[in-house]
Amino acid sequence: MNILRAPSRPDVDSTPFWEACQRRVLVGQRCGACGEWRWPPRAHCPSCHAREPVWEELAGTGTIVGAVTVRRSLDAAFAHLLPLPIIHVRVDGTDGAMVLTSNLLPGQWPQAEVGKRVAVRFARVRSDLILPQFTIDYASGDDGSSSTGSRRAPGR
Ligand SMILES: [Zn+2]
Repeated sequence: MNILRAPSRPDVDSTPFWEACQRRVLVGQRCGACGEWRWPPRAHCPSCHAREPVWEELAGTGTIVGAVTVRRSLDAAFAHLLPLPIIHVRVDGTDGAMVLTSNLLPGQWPQAEVGKRVAVRFARVRSDLILPQFTIDYASGDDGSSSTGSRRAPGR
């Protein structure tokens, strides 16, 4: 069975995010006028109502702020993916505004815990689609017990 794993249908506001993923780059949107980060992408700034959003490349690291492991599938087509850890990641460098819903790489679900540091990995899930996923960031040397999510990762 051919399983379709696709993001939400890109719209005019989110297209730059999905295009960057295809280049294996994680980007975030902020206001071109006041500089405030925002997520999900949108045309107008919720703070100053300006248009002109700008996109900036991010380090691709973050902290798990929510986690759930799906252990039962309501659709047999997804049964082979179980257990599937769904995580919410507060992305570094966005003042806490950008929280992505994603998943951990296979085999890491026992470590899907709030506070764990993670790093983005881009996975080709179809011939024409690359999605951001995350892996536990062992290189950070941080087991998550002291993470505040405010540490900014070095830029590239
Ligand atoms: Zn603004």
